[in-house]
Formats: sequence, C-alpha cells, structure tokens
Amino acid sequence: MDPEYDFVVAGAGPAGLQFAREVVSNSDRSVAVLERNAALSDNDKSTGGTFPEVVEGYGVPDNVVMAEAGSVTFESPNNGCRHPMDTYVLDFPHFLEFLGEDAASDGADVLTGHRVTGPVVENGTVRGVRYRTADGEDGTLRARITVDATGPAATLSDPLGYFDTGTAHRGIGLEIEAEGRYDTDDTLLFSFDHADAPGGYAWTFPAGEEVFKAGVCWVDEFRAARPDGRTITDYVERWVETDPRWKVETVRARHAGEAVWNDSMNRRAGDGFLAVGDAASSINPLFGEGIRPGMESARMAAEVALSALRAGEVSRPWLLPYERRWNDRRGRAWKLQRVVSELLYDFDDAQQDAFVERVAALPPGKAERLRTYELDTLSLARLYPFRPKDLPKLPTILRHLRGSRPT
Ligand SMILES: Cc1cc2nc3c(=O)[nH]c(=O)nc-3n(C[C@H](O)[C@H](O)[C@H](O)COP(=O)(O)OP(=O)(O)OC[C@H]3O[C@@H](n4cnc5c(N)ncnc54)[C@H](O)[C@@H]3O)c2cc1C
Repeated sequence: MDPEYDFVVAGAGPAGLQFAREVVSNSDRSVAVLERNAALSDNDKSTGGTFPEVVEGYGVPDNVVMAEAGSVTFESPNNGCRHPMDTYVLDFPHFLEFLGEDAASDGADVLTGHRVTGPVVENGTVRGVRYRTADGEDGTLRARITVDATGPAATLSDPLGYFDTGTAHRGIGLEIEAEGRYDTDDTLLFSFDHADAPGGYAWTFPAGEEVFKAGVCWVDEFRAARPDGRTITDYVERWVETDPRWKVETVRARHAGEAVWNDSMNRRAGDGFLAVGDAASSINPLFGEGIRPGMESARMAAEVALSALRAGEVSRPWLLPYERRWNDRRGRAWKLQRVVSELLYDFDDAQQDAFVERVAALPPGKAERLRTYELDTLSLARLYPFRPKDLPKLPTILRHLRGSRPT
C-alpha cells in the first residue's frame, strides 16, 4: 500500500514550503513536499525583493535578509521619482532553505530529488501524485489533498485544466549578484526604459556591504515587438556597465528564470486539489512580484484546507472558499493590473516619462496603496498616460477583462 499523507505538495518554492509551514504549525496533519531539484537552494531564480508583509508576516529571520532599503525609485528615459517604503532583499536560496528547515522541524517531510510526473486521479478526485526520483525510481504518494506549487511549470494545474499556460503571458529575467560600488542611497531602483529593457524593466537592488543585484526582465510579446538581435545577457551587461552609479568588481552569481501568468483568476480548488503560488498564476502581473502573493495564496489555501479536513471533507465545494478569497482579495486587482501591464510595457518613451511623473505626484497614502495593490481603479488609471495609438489594444484589453472564470 502506498503511504498516505493528509497533504502532498508538489514543488518547494516559497508557496509550497509556506503551505507546509502553515499545516505543521497549525495542526497535527501530515504533509510531504516533493521538490525536483537536488537541493531547495537550487531554485535561485529570484532577486528576493520584498516587503514587511513577508519578513514580519512569516517570521523570516535576519540571516536570510541581505539588505534593507528605505525607498523605491522609478526611472524612465528622462524622469525619476522616489517614494519612501520599507523593503527587504532576501537571499532567495537561503530563504528557501530556512522555509524548508522550519517546516521539517515541525514535522513536514521535505523530499528533494523527487520530480512529480502527474496526478493520481480516482473517480474525478485527485488522490496524490506520481513521482520519479533522481535515481530513476518511480513511486506514488497518496494524499487526502494534493497541492500544486510547482511555479510556472504548473505540473498538475495545467494538465488538470486549472491554469492554461499555453495561452498565458511569458517573460524572462536575468540578474547578476555583484560585489562592487552601489551609489544609490540603497534604494530598490526600477528603470522603465526600452533602452535598458525593451518590453520590460531593469533593476538594481542593494544586497549588503558593497554587494548589489542588477537585472533585466521583459515580457516576451513586447520584447518581440522591438527586435534588435540582442540577448538578455547583452542587456544585463549594458545595464551594469553604462550607469556610473554602480560598478561591478566581481560577479558572485547569476540568477535567471521564467514567469508565466494570466490574470490569476483561475480555477484554484477542485476535488482533493489546490493550486497555490505561480502554479495558479499568483505573481502580480504588473510588476512581477511573486513571493508575497505566492505565500499569501498558500496561507489562504492552508486555512481553508485545514478547516475542510476538520469537517472530514475534501471536495471542491469545501475547498472553494480559498478560490473565492483569492479572487476577492487579489484576483480582481490582478485582472485590472494585467490590463495595465498590457500598456505599460508597450509605452513609448514619452509615455514612460509621463507614467513616472504621475507616480512621483502620488501622495504618500496613495503610494502605499500602490505598494499594497489597493489603489482604486480611477487612481490606477490616472497613472497611465493612454494615447490614441493605444486604441488598437482595446480588443485585447476587453478580452482580458471578460476572460476570467467566475466562481
Ligand atoms: C529573474 C526573476 C526575478 C524575480 N525577482 C523577484 C523579486 O525580487 N521579488 C518577488 O517577489 N518575486 C520575484 N520573482 C518572482 C518570484 O520568484 C516567483 O513568483 C516565486 O518564486 C513563485 O513562488 P512559487 O513557490 O509559486 O514557485 P517557484 O518559486 O517557481 O517554485 C516552484 C518549485 O517547484 C519545483 N518544481 C517544478 N516542477 C516540479 C515537479 N514536476 N516536481 C517537483 N518539483 C517541481 C521547482 O524546482 C521550484 O523549486 C522573480 C522571478 C524571476 C524569474
């Protein structure tokens, strides 16, 4: 007989590991997390820029925080603005190790070198996963509730029809972690300028004494609209070499990865099944911030799942409050912000300047609401300098506005 857990989680990123932490710290339920990589720290794609909601809200210790910064700076070809904001830069691989060790110390089984290959489905209910180990052994883990937290791979949620990655937006990011000079008053700096990052943005974050991270990301479709034959590596090199405010002495590491997203209002709960983090597109579609929302989705899902198990239930109606809660708290805002991202990353230089000028004019209360993604629709719309040339985008925008599944 295959072993049976209360929960089996596929994927040990921030969302999957936080789901396990929620389970073991709030109940006696059993949970196993299966990660395809040999070590949790092998998932090192992320810059780790985040906010107090993560560091304070999930008890993240100081030793995985590389730097704290007191502001966020937005720049465009001819403008710049800075808003005071408490921010953190995590050592992402060590942050994952902390989450994994913390979950394991409270009883979670965290199994690295286990690639989930598919769901076990019986009479329409997901009853666990099939996996293959690094040694090539195949196995099955049964669970009362199975959780997909495999990030953009969406290993279970895509084939089960919850998140269609084939029709989603895609983007890539590449950054270097460097030792050297970083003269920006330790701000988190974002450049919305196609010369730095065609169809996306470039960034630099402080990461400790004379250490910083610098990277470029773009949305594939908007990058493709600006062809020049240059790779993302070319752009990262240009970004770090041409700006006099920083100077690379030694490159310590390179981090790279992919993001795949739609408006996040996907089916997130089914019979015996939940999808959290980027496996359900929880990443913010406007700025690509994924740690805070991914962990938030995990907490919401775990709360609902534990209460369903207390009632002895695992069917979709009992897990559906998670999906509804996500859509109420985040999904509707994400849907609007996906529409806005459709415009922002395709703006011309003058529009990027106007956008940054409008962000500069935000009073502190509204800047804080921009940070928490709670800016009202009108204020959000006012930040974006639409022009008649954007009108051809209207059908796409309307499709996005209509496109999500109501629950
Ligand atoms: C270059 C880059 C920079 C970024 N910078 C930031 C930032 O500064 N701040 C921020 O908030 N967000 C950032 N993000 C986004 C953020 O990293 C992600 O949104 C976040 O990591 C999503 O967490 P997750 O747990 O849902 O998925 P992931 O972090 O993608 O974790 C999924 C895990 O599942 C594993 N997995 C995949 N398939 C399988 C399988 N079949 N079986 C078992 N395991 C599997 C993967 O190996 C991985 O460990 C960045 C992303 C990129 C690409």
